[in-house]
Amino acid sequence: MTGRRDDVASTLITGIGELVTNDAARGDGTPLGILHDAAIVLEQGAVAWVGASSEAPAADERVDAGGRCVIPGFVDSHTHIVFAGERSAEFAARMAGEPYTGGGIATTVAATRAASTARLRAGAERLVAEAVESGTTTIEIKSGYGLTTVDEARLLLVARELTEDTTFLGAHTVPPEYANDRAGYVALVTGDMLEACAPFARWVDVFCDRGAFDEDEARAVLRAGIAAGLRPRLHGNQLEHGPGVRLAVELDAASADHCNHLTGADLSALADSDTVATLLPASDFSTRAPYADARRLIDAGVTVALATDCNPGTSFTTSMPLCIALAVREMRMTPAEALVAATAGGARALRRDDVGVIAEGRRADLVLLDAPSHVHLAYRPGAALVAGTWKRGQRVFWRSTRT
Ligand SMILES: [Zn+2]
Repeated sequence: MTGRRDDVASTLITGIGELVTNDAARGDGTPLGILHDAAIVLEQGAVAWVGASSEAPAADERVDAGGRCVIPGFVDSHTHIVFAGERSAEFAARMAGEPYTGGGIATTVAATRAASTARLRAGAERLVAEAVESGTTTIEIKSGYGLTTVDEARLLLVARELTEDTTFLGAHTVPPEYANDRAGYVALVTGDMLEACAPFARWVDVFCDRGAFDEDEARAVLRAGIAAGLRPRLHGNQLEHGPGVRLAVELDAASADHCNHLTGADLSALADSDTVATLLPASDFSTRAPYADARRLIDAGVTVALATDCNPGTSFTTSMPLCIALAVREMRMTPAEALVAATAGGARALRRDDVGVIAEGRRADLVLLDAPSHVHLAYRPGAALVAGTWKRGQRVFWRSTRT
């Protein structure tokens, strides 16, 4: 039913009822850049041509979209998918009334340290395949469940096999063996651990929040990462008002992630910066926490991204369509804003201009929806709407029974 086809040199997708390009210069004049009755040619991994179906050139392979909708592939800019074990009992307890404190990370750390690299790799590959089935074509993957030099490097080695956007998150939490020596752990993260991990990472991240790392510790971690050639991003302002977002802006982080608790000053700082606010609605859903206020951020002029935060403790989903549906219902985003945030917004949060947009010369990463319009992503929550996924011009998922 699914799977990678043999590579083809060029593919024409024709009969697209609604093509969302995210190219505001094209189409209907909105940020979605919508074309109707459109076609696309994919060649050598890139988009080679976009235009009217009636004017489409020939290609080696032809796919008829049958009037359905095509969108850019989702850019999931925040995941933690290299781990072992699962925490369904903790989820059930939380749903029975226990609050999330961040302490459950230690459970996954213990399971991950005990797992073989082959087992970690198999688990991560399974989750990436699941993400592709719901339309994700670019994924960021963090370490953070090893928390020793050897284990963090092992996680990043696995992540590196699956994506270019790997993130060193040694500063996810202080591991139990350093409970009485926080300074010693920060010294390790900014010293030997960073040195071992930097070759496998593009980004450095830190969890700056109550129960995690404070402002000075977080600044030290990010500055050390920057000095080692990594680019900064940050988890912050999830559990309470705090210094995270301001620190992210101070260091020109690509993204400040969570952003549930923001002051007016935080909003202004974000709006005047190149730092994206990445919102994680499935995490708020799974921790039964108040949702981040996307409406307030967008109205203040902040660039917003949506991501899954896929992890075994607080957001065990790979589904960007679920995130879109939650963001529209619970964060007061429009369906159009949510789709842009899940594609072009994610690309901005990873400082990439090759994905998140369907235009000539960009990567041929796109999704055929089994729906006439992108609005169905929020209008039909829970339905498996992804009929096909193309990554670098190759069809990597196909729900053949629907055509
Ligand atoms: Zn996270």
